[in-house]
Amino acid sequence: MAAPTHTREEWTDRAGKLDLEGRAFIGGEHAGSASGETFASINPATGEVLVEVAAGDEEDVERAVRAARRAFDGGVWSEAAPADRKRVLLRLAELIREHADELALLDSLDMGKPVEDAISIDVPGAADLVQWYAEAADKLYDEIAPTGSSELALVTREPLGVVGAIVPWNYPLDLAAWKVAPALLAGNSVVLKPAEQSPLSAIRLGELAGEAGLPPGVLNVVPGFGETAGRAIGLHPGVDCVAFTGSTEVGKLFLRYSSESNAKPVWLECGGKSPNLVFADTEDLDQAAEMAAFGIFFNQGEVCSANSRLLVERPIRDELVERVLGHARAVRIGDPLDPETTMGPLVDEQHAERVLGYIEAGREAGNLRFGGEPVKVDGNGRCFVGPTILDGISNDARVAQEEIFGPVLTVLDFTDEEEALRVANQSRYGLAASVWTSNLGRAHRLARRLRAGTVSVNTVDALSPQTPFGGFKGSGFGRDLSLHALDKYTGLKTTWIKY
Ligand code: NAD
Repeated sequence: MAAPTHTREEWTDRAGKLDLEGRAFIGGEHAGSASGETFASINPATGEVLVEVAAGDEEDVERAVRAARRAFDGGVWSEAAPADRKRVLLRLAELIREHADELALLDSLDMGKPVEDAISIDVPGAADLVQWYAEAADKLYDEIAPTGSSELALVTREPLGVVGAIVPWNYPLDLAAWKVAPALLAGNSVVLKPAEQSPLSAIRLGELAGEAGLPPGVLNVVPGFGETAGRAIGLHPGVDCVAFTGSTEVGKLFLRYSSESNAKPVWLECGGKSPNLVFADTEDLDQAAEMAAFGIFFNQGEVCSANSRLLVERPIRDELVERVLGHARAVRIGDPLDPETTMGPLVDEQHAERVLGYIEAGREAGNLRFGGEPVKVDGNGRCFVGPTILDGISNDARVAQEEIFGPVLTVLDFTDEEEALRVANQSRYGLAASVWTSNLGRAHRLARRLRAGTVSVNTVDALSPQTPFGGFKGSGFGRDLSLHALDKYTGLKTTWIKY
């Protein structure tokens, strides 16, 4: 792990000095909600109210869509030269880096992730991603179709118009950037709705984009609840496309909103129940154990592609589980502002109760090998749930089939490759999978046959801006990251010229 950037006292001091903004950002300006309603943004580590946030609803979404449409139709961004878009997005990437401490604190305070993880992973991740798309801006060519000699057929990519981006709370800054950067690169205007649990970094992203030179109305941020602001975006006839990240249940609602309104394209990045297959021929079992633990305990297990099902070949089962237990014992659960902390609180009380409910179901379905209890940190115990390992579970048990979205590992075993594959694919989800083996043929065979959007071999959760990310089955469709993400935010136009 990288050396800490600040001490706990320094982080706490910086947190105290933040000037928190909870208003929406519409048409380049801050705005309270039209209704005047607010909701409290609560720090899950302490239970304290951070700031009151504008509870955006239909009217606020209407204002944001209007601002976005005006900006789009005005052409100041949608028709800007690619090199101009590049300059603005590059400046935004720089500004994200310049405000690293602040952005890391916003996410840490809002949803509980250790601040040193936020500053070493989330913030550089967002900046690098925006930069990657910025650099692509003037390197994308369109097509000329093969035709007869007396005609010319041009195939060009056009922005769709107003993109509605709806994101969850587990990587607030990064997942906002995953949507916003390619949508803007393509020339769209965006209405971004962060999760109600973690709106602060998205609002700041909107402000920084304005500072970087993005014209007013091109990126609007409307905080609010899913059932109000999220639903209003989904149903709005003036929204040309929805890019959603969140649970499968809510993702399906967006398909319905689309069918009930303007049949807008909807792209879904949803949940997962990712299998991590460890074979007896794994060269480095220590590394496999360390990454198995990392793959489920990092970010409190609140990761869509978390390796929540550990499938181990029988001969090495006990040995591997012992080593994973060692890593679970080493997790330091505590104040997210303390650099020693490797696991913070879950996002809120409701979610912590949900996770504990699953652990209870797991106790009944198998053996609780580790954890499973709420943990008290500095007298606060409502949202902290430590690393938990459930063993002796069958793959059809609820805890092996449903997404828990917490630090809960379910251990299963297998006798051969066919059984491993069958159990791994026996899931409603298909987001990610990992395979540990020194047999190259097996690695390729399984990578081909595992029904997952990403297969990592001898590592877990590999991803980068250069590679597409998304799932099969209940994990959604469409891909974030890479140039393939542009498929979501553009439409192809054919122009025929006869001469
Ligand atoms: P969620 O589905 O509850 O909420 C996601 C977003 O949808 C939030 O902004 C929320 O306000 C909004 N929303 C909620 N109810 C709505 C409704 N009725 N109408 C319209 N909008 C509504 O998910 P969450 O709890 O915020 O996040 C956790 C989920 O996100 C997990 O399932 C996780 O796997 C998934 N996720 C997926 C990816 C991916 O890239 N595939 C990445 C991160 C998280």
